Amino acid sequence: MYANNLVVCIFCVNFVSVNFVKYYNFKMEKNTEKIVNQNVGITESSEIAFQLDAFDRLYDANIIITKRLTNKLIDKIVENKDKIILHVTCTGWGGTEIEPFVPTMETTRKKFGILIEKGFPIEQCVLRIDPIIPTEEGIKRMQNVVQLFCDTGIKRVRFSVLDMYEHVKKRFNDKGIEIPYDTFHAPLSDRKRINDLLCDFGHEYNFDVEACAEPGIESVPCLSQKDIDILGLKDKIILKGNKGQRSNCSCASNKKEILRGKDTAQQCLNSCIYCFWGSRR
Ligand code: SF4
Repeated sequence: MYANNLVVCIFCVNFVSVNFVKYYNFKMEKNTEKIVNQNVGITESSEIAFQLDAFDRLYDANIIITKRLTNKLIDKIVENKDKIILHVTCTGWGGTEIEPFVPTMETTRKKFGILIEKGFPIEQCVLRIDPIIPTEEGIKRMQNVVQLFCDTGIKRVRFSVLDMYEHVKKRFNDKGIEIPYDTFHAPLSDRKRINDLLCDFGHEYNFDVEACAEPGIESVPCLSQKDIDILGLKDKIILKGNKGQRSNCSCASNKKEILRGKDTAQQCLNSCIYCFWGSRR
């Protein structure tokens, strides 16, 4: 009889402990799944204005980057405004041989005004001057862009200075456009000067300046806690790790590209000559 009870007890203990382990593993898997699914959408591999189907793949938070605020794109952005931090890229070179098919800065400013009038919050907007070509003309254009946007109440201005990849250098050479240095990054003194000029504007017009992956200058990633806080998602999305895209990039690993298809990862129809991607096939 005692022996029988003992067998039953051992069986029960075994049963309970096996199921406890199973339950524990299930909970752990669920938690991990929750963390894995905390993706933040981003549009880095092309121009979203040419791929509006990306709006069908939005996550709860998305960094939408565009140089081409078309009416259709504006409507999509406004429709999904609770999920979007918008980077409006305007370098001041639109319509020139540097950005042949990008709208001019005046057109971009006008469209930006329409976007805000339609109800997209200015707090969720970032004016992105990317890249700045570090020549006197490039700096002048950067200043013109800031002056054009300063009356919008923009709170964040983000910049990056031209990175001279070999294929980019070739495109500049082919067009006979001279760049006054031969290194990958422009000299630190030139980049610091640009940062200082933008910070002066920032004090005057009350916006924050964010450098994008500039060695020697304090940088802010494209996706940071600030974005999550602005969208009110700090209890839902935990940023983690480092995507490790480039040596100076500190973006969290939550970033997930939402553009797809054959037009990604190659120069898009905007045809910027500084494009990181290779020429269109
Ligand atoms: S050409 Fe390249 S840099 Fe210009 S908008 Fe298209 S993907 Fe971006």
